[in-house]
Amino acid sequence: MASGAIITGTEARSVAFSAVDRVTRELVGTAKKIYVEPEVGFRERKTSARIARSLRGLGLTVEEGIAHTGLKAVYEFDRPGPRVAVICELDALRVPSHSGSDPDTGAAHACGHHTQAGMMLGVAHALTQPELRGLLSGSVAFIATPAEEFIDVSERLEMRKAGLLQFLSGKQEMLRLGTFDDIDMAMMMHTASGDGSPRITVGGTSNAHIVHHVRFVGRSAHAGGAPDRGINALQAAMLAINAINTQRETLQEKHIARIHGIITKGGTAVNAVPDNVVYEGRVRAMQADALADLNEKVLRCYRAGALGVGANVEITTIPGYLSMQNNVEMQDVFSRNAELVVGASNLRCTEDAESRGGSTDMGDLSTVMPAIHPYTSAAMGTGHGPDYVIADYDLAVVAPAKIMSATVIDLLSNDASGAKRVLENYRPVMSRAKYLAMQAERFQTELYKGV
Ligand SMILES: [Zn+2]
Ligand SMILES: [Zn+2]
Repeated sequence: MASGAIITGTEARSVAFSAVDRVTRELVGTAKKIYVEPEVGFRERKTSARIARSLRGLGLTVEEGIAHTGLKAVYEFDRPGPRVAVICELDALRVPSHSGSDPDTGAAHACGHHTQAGMMLGVAHALTQPELRGLLSGSVAFIATPAEEFIDVSERLEMRKAGLLQFLSGKQEMLRLGTFDDIDMAMMMHTASGDGSPRITVGGTSNAHIVHHVRFVGRSAHAGGAPDRGINALQAAMLAINAINTQRETLQEKHIARIHGIITKGGTAVNAVPDNVVYEGRVRAMQADALADLNEKVLRCYRAGALGVGANVEITTIPGYLSMQNNVEMQDVFSRNAELVVGASNLRCTEDAESRGGSTDMGDLSTVMPAIHPYTSAAMGTGHGPDYVIADYDLAVVAPAKIMSATVIDLLSNDASGAKRVLENYRPVMSRAKYLAMQAERFQTELYKGV
């Protein structure tokens, strides 16, 4: 097929699939290189630079350093039309016990994000084939997003204080910076732990969450000589955690509610009454009203801990993620192509009201534009656990690259009629301006004096 010749959708798909097949080793190689250099959120410099190099190798202009480490490259087809974003997440999390962890930072790809670069670059190889230029209308944006794992909260709050961030996750921050202003719809895929079958899962939702940074402030005193003159901030934190545990019997199964946290600072010197203790907490639920209710209960528990020992507590409430809303029409297009690539018997559809319990900032994006977030069961082990590794790189990288390429082709062929239909039928949960205002408003600090 010569460049510029008119080709059919089926031919376009085979052009894309052949392009992916030609670079399979390179795509998987990129994913594996990222795996051995895990970097946590907003620090994914090597990962981002590697992806930028590959995109530039395809002739694309790459905008780098968005929200510190994010990037974006746009490829235009011959005719105008909607812009579809294909996203990959850059960050690792911290699981020092993971077999692939960095011994210095404890960072590890225990959520499989390293595969997403391979997927996205595969789509870039496929869609930049010259035969497709004249067939498709619109454009595709390749966007790498930092910091999906909502961790290192103290450090990110410091970055915020220094004016380096406003929101603490990559997609939230990119929404604020306008990276998605020219994007009409978005998709990405995530790995999941499977049973060995080549399974692709669409549908379902994720939990919304709210993040807490809680600092209990007491008074230091000699722990042996004058404990009566101290105010023990660690006791206040423990009391708060026990109070939180009393709430568990009020949680309802249908909300998939979760309350969890870690103490990131438990004291300074063992012979002094701890006067500065930091707890990073999280509440999650599928529905916004259930989450708001849970949030109030947990805030009350922090205050109760402080009140119990006469300490003070500084509670920073941080806007977390919104629930994922998978766009049904995009999902239908995706599903047809997933069936072609892995077979109809390997496609699963989760009920809309079913949440895995986790959260993603793709949920935030899906609140303001049509978006999908399907899973590929290419991993084994427990997500975020020491044993979560990719069992099948073909299913983790190659199949997703093909499915997403074919999905973009279907959306943007025939004068982008598929994408235009998605947009005509779409009503955002809220406007982008309203989303930003709401998230900014949720950022709050309360000082409660239990003294
Ligand atoms: Zn994760
Ligand atoms: Zn993840």
